Amino acid sequence: ANSRKFFVGGNWKCNGTTEGVKKIVSMLNNGVVPSQDVVEVVVSPSFVYLDTVKSSLRSDFHVAAQNCWVNKGGAFTGEVSAEMLANLEIPWVILGHSERRALLNESEEFVGDKVAYALARGLKVIACVGETLEQRESGSTMDVVAAQTKTIAERLLNWTNVVLAYEPVWAIGTGKVASPAQAQEVHYELRKWLQENVSAEIAATTRIIYGGSVSGANCKELAGQPDVDGFLVGGASLKPEFIEIIKSAT
Ligand code: PEP
Repeated sequence: ANSRKFFVGGNWKCNGTTEGVKKIVSMLNNGVVPSQDVVEVVVSPSFVYLDTVKSSLRSDFHVAAQNCWVNKGGAFTGEVSAEMLANLEIPWVILGHSERRALLNESEEFVGDKVAYALARGLKVIACVGETLEQRESGSTMDVVAAQTKTIAERLLNWTNVVLAYEPVWAIGTGKVASPAQAQEVHYELRKWLQENVSAEIAATTRIIYGGSVSGANCKELAGQPDVDGFLVGGASLKPEFIEIIKSAT
């Protein structure tokens, strides 16, 4: 047993239409789930639907942006600043998702700078780390996730508003979920890394959530692992099974 509140994030990625988003919100609003004292639920629509979702979503669920700019806004066409998210009272932002690291060439330093800046503007951050299949097969999983975590950690003064998401790249959107033992192993090592490099208190209190092909069928066993404090869910967060995933908190 631990005092970390279970956390379930839904990453809607670049999906949705006005109608589709309404349907998902209504599915969420009608879901019967454990109370806010037991599970923290955060869904992340595209920027363009954030405001609609925020205003129509049940009050015990919260919203996250999927990205924000690394620094103060200004002449950065196409970007959205942390100040703007704070202004709209968007409480959370996902940073360092592997799709952005890989497809938009976001470097470790850039991700670390973004996390530090967003936190400084008062946002809460879901910071993502994870190894590729090649890195796993070559035995460098822990080196990779520790290096990604270190780049973030060295820029932070305070971990209170950070949730760390372990998302093995080979498991994202592939249907190849990490086994409960594989997830637990990395989560345990990440917590140990926090203990040795940040502090025992931060290690004990920081939520480390798993992401990568989480579904209604596999969530319960993953949630039972001692160092798995919740999930970041992509594909299944658009479907009614997201409610089942939230229920795995208990
Ligand atoms: C994600 O994008 O964060 C994710 C985990 O996706 P999926 O659940 O679809 O693998």
